[in-house]
This record gives sequence, C-alpha cells and structure tokens, in this order.
Amino acid sequence: MVLEPDPAVALAEAADRMRGCERCPELVAARTQVVCGTGAPTARVLIVGDAPRSREDALGVPLSGRALELLERFLLAAGCPPEDRFLTTLVKCLPPLARDPSATEVAGCSEHLETEVALLAPLVVVGLGGFVAGVLRGRPSPVRRSRGREEPCLVGPHAAWLLPVFHPAAALYDPATVPLLEADLARIPELLARGRPELAPEPARDSPAPDAVPGPGQLDLF
Ligand code: SF4
Repeated sequence: MVLEPDPAVALAEAADRMRGCERCPELVAARTQVVCGTGAPTARVLIVGDAPRSREDALGVPLSGRALELLERFLLAAGCPPEDRFLTTLVKCLPPLARDPSATEVAGCSEHLETEVALLAPLVVVGLGGFVAGVLRGRPSPVRRSRGREEPCLVGPHAAWLLPVFHPAAALYDPATVPLLEADLARIPELLARGRPELAPEPARDSPAPDAVPGPGQLDLF
C-alpha cells in the first residue's frame, strides 16, 4: 500500500526548500525573506497574488493590511472559510523599487508555485488582478474584461476553475470596483459545487499566439 504524503508536512517541506532559493539576484538583494504561501493544506481554493510588497516582505505573508482585510471579508461573506483556502503569490520575493516581477522572475519562481499547486490540487484558482490572471491563463488578461468569468484550466495534473478578480489592493484605490470584487468572489461556492471541470485536449501549438505574454506563458502547469 502506498501512503499519501501528509499535505501539511509536504507543504512545510516545500516551504523550507523555497526559503533557500537564490535564483533571482535582484530579488535576493531586495528581500528580507522568502514569502511562502500560507493557508489550509487541504484547501480547495487557491488564491494567487503577484508578489510580496514591502510590508508583506517584512511580515513574511503573501498579503496584509487593508487589502487582506477586504479580501477576507468578502471570502467569509461568500462562504469560503480559512479552512478552505490557501493564499500565495506568483513570485515569492520582494521586487525592488516597487516594480512588478519580470517575466524571467515569474518563470523562475513558477517551480515553487507549481509545487504548491501540485500539493493542494485546488478546485478553484482565484487570480488577483490582471497581471496574475494573464500569467495563469498564459495570455494577456485585462482584468476589467476577464473578471468574474471563470474558465477551466489545467493545474498540474488536475483541472480547476480559474477565476480572475480585481486585486483587493487596487480595489481600495477604485471604490467602484469593490462591489465587483465582492460579487466575483461570491461565485466561489458555485464553482466548488460544479466540481472539477472537464478539459478537452489542448490543440497542438506550432507557434505562440501573437499576443502571448512572454514569461507568463512559461508557467507550464497552467
Ligand atoms: S522569487 Fe522565487 S525563484 Fe526568485 S529567488 Fe525568490 S523564491 Fe527563488
């Protein structure tokens, strides 16, 4: 009989490996620490942000402050409790000068996200903001157009529902988007209830689509 690894132990071991990573020189110089994902090891909902910022770097958490409070309030209202969610970022280290992570850094860190995804096997993947949603879809994704519109995606060996939403930090600067973020997150239970999506086999790709995002599309698992 083959024993399945304990997901909590496997995630903790993966986090230990991530903490020793020095793949991105500029981020290694800027960071205080590697910020690993956090949440329930049996979560069905994976929430993905872009990268830790200064405050998150100092605290060692993927998201903090008012943005986290807003996100948690809407998740709770939607019926998605802490026991059913895991929060992480595309890139686990602080980009310097408040810049976005580069395509090379996103691709380099994809191994760590893929590890988290493989261990969690989520049913729903929530992408916070257009940048993240574009990476997860493998093509540009203006969040104003894609938000709230789920699509099936391949997450490692498993299919899952990808749900792009506004980033809560961005919503704090644009109050008109706050109810949209709330409404989009409220769709999570419905997607969970649908179960895993069925995915048709991907057509062979001879050449990249002209609007493909360099780097983001390199996330093999997605
Ligand atoms: S961002 Fe990711 S790949 Fe780059 S150094 Fe940090 S943990 Fe390693």
